[in-house]
Amino acid sequence: MRNVRQGPNPPVVLVLAGHDPTGGAGLVADSEAIAACGGWAVTIPTALTVQDCRDVHRVVPVDAGLIRGMAGGLSSLPIAAIKVGLVASSDTLDAVVAIVRDRPGIPVVVDPVLKAGGGAELSTTELIEAFRERLLPLVDVLTPNRLELERLTKGAGQDDTTRAKRLLTSGCGAVLVTGSDDPEVEVPTGEVQQVLYCADGRFAWRWPRLTGRYHGSGCTLAAALSARLAVGESLHEACEQAQAFTWRALTRAWQPPVGQALPRRL
Ligand code: PLP
Repeated sequence: MRNVRQGPNPPVVLVLAGHDPTGGAGLVADSEAIAACGGWAVTIPTALTVQDCRDVHRVVPVDAGLIRGMAGGLSSLPIAAIKVGLVASSDTLDAVVAIVRDRPGIPVVVDPVLKAGGGAELSTTELIEAFRERLLPLVDVLTPNRLELERLTKGAGQDDTTRAKRLLTSGCGAVLVTGSDDPEVEVPTGEVQQVLYCADGRFAWRWPRLTGRYHGSGCTLAAALSARLAVGESLHEACEQAQAFTWRALTRAWQPPVGQALPRRL
């Protein structure tokens, strides 16, 4: 007798992201978030990192040929969405762009990981420029925090709305800015605001601000969002559900002896 569970197959989400050995961010975080949201993560490491719970100490991009080879090995799987995280070299960017281009018509969620929460730089000006030119036009939802938004739109203006609109003009489908202080709505102290900019307009959500510092909150949000889109939710619903999921994971985070708290997604 075959021991294969019958029933609908889970939607497969292809994750291209760095490996963080702490499990706070990167591939492990993404896989957990995707599984918890009903998806099946297939994972391709774009970089290996040396880090502790305080900061990233070393990033080694994975060979671009290996990345392409791993993607080829997954070609028989029905991929329903793609999530991209850390892209730490120009060759990696080329491979990621090729892999995304090879799979048109599915949602692509990109978390532009430019700097670690601990402070380490994870990108360069040239790489950000290449990211804007080559990957951004293929993105359905970009999930920058305010700092990433600023760095991706240097010279575009002062406020989040102008900056986000610049990204939309560059070909990105929607931008979900986390920790936004968009002045259109005053955010009460003790709350944090996330704002979605898309073709239908601007939508804001506010969540009680959590104290403490968390590692991998951006990964959790983007991965949950990719899984939600893969199961067929609308952009608005998926953004809302992914935020709720992330907020819950942060409220359940555990505190290692040193460094940032690690979200519990499962
Ligand atoms: N992805 C990987 C592989 C990382 O190493 C990091 C940063 O350490 C991140 C994503 C971003 O995580 P965070 O925003 O918590 O620094």
